[in-house]
Amino acid sequence: MYHWLREYRRKKILAEPFPPEWRAILAAEVKHYSFLNAEEKHHLEQLLQVFVGEKKFIGCNGLEIVDEIRVVIAADACMLILGLPHDLYRRLATILVYPSTVVVPPPKAGVFTQSPLLERPAIPIAGQAFLNGPVILVWDEVKKESRHPERGHNVVYHEFAHYLDMLDGRADGTPELHSREQYRQWAEVFTAEFLALRRQLKAGEKTFFDPYGATNEAEFFAVATELFFDQPVKMQETHQALYAVMAAFYQQDTAERERRRRKDSHGG
Ligand SMILES: [Zn+2]
Repeated sequence: MYHWLREYRRKKILAEPFPPEWRAILAAEVKHYSFLNAEEKHHLEQLLQVFVGEKKFIGCNGLEIVDEIRVVIAADACMLILGLPHDLYRRLATILVYPSTVVVPPPKAGVFTQSPLLERPAIPIAGQAFLNGPVILVWDEVKKESRHPERGHNVVYHEFAHYLDMLDGRADGTPELHSREQYRQWAEVFTAEFLALRRQLKAGEKTFFDPYGATNEAEFFAVATELFFDQPVKMQETHQALYAVMAAFYQQDTAERERRRRKDSHGG
């Protein structure tokens, strides 16, 4: 309803020049930023500027929110929507940032959980996403993973993949796709890959995907997203069909980007 107001505010945000000190943070802390070409860098900076301008970052357990935290989290989150409509994160208002691993308290016993067998222990997490609530992140994980994509883990990619997945109202490992044919391919490819991962784990084999991806379809999509951005060439080589449907969804060819970077760094 207040679309025009949002647009007006965004124009104001984007009229400000991109702070050079933010660019220095990106260069030092966000490895993937250095893989982008000039046009992609510019686009990411604009998405990031709007993201930082519109979202509220709240430091928890005594963490003070500084530009480094805002810029690194926003950059990783916006990397996912570099090829998508920039409005996908518009309903997200708040990001809670903890200094280190959070322990989620066990759920309170209610009518349905009176049996001690049903009570779950406290779970340590690195992040969590809610469609109508905050995204929760742990800063020491974010910082480490953002610098080292070769390790194949990025909690910001993971949680924002959940967020994109939930936009259609269901956390089921299928975000809103662009066509019927895409839904068909998605179901076919993801089902095959998910079941293959479960089989491999059962057989005790080493897997490309983190075993956590075998938890359910939503976790599989989040884990696959981490690898789509962090180890795209390997993913394309070993899981070609999955890479293709993910590239069609994200509208990014991350493997091509990685190959270009390798060539550039070899060619001097
Ligand atoms: Zn998850």
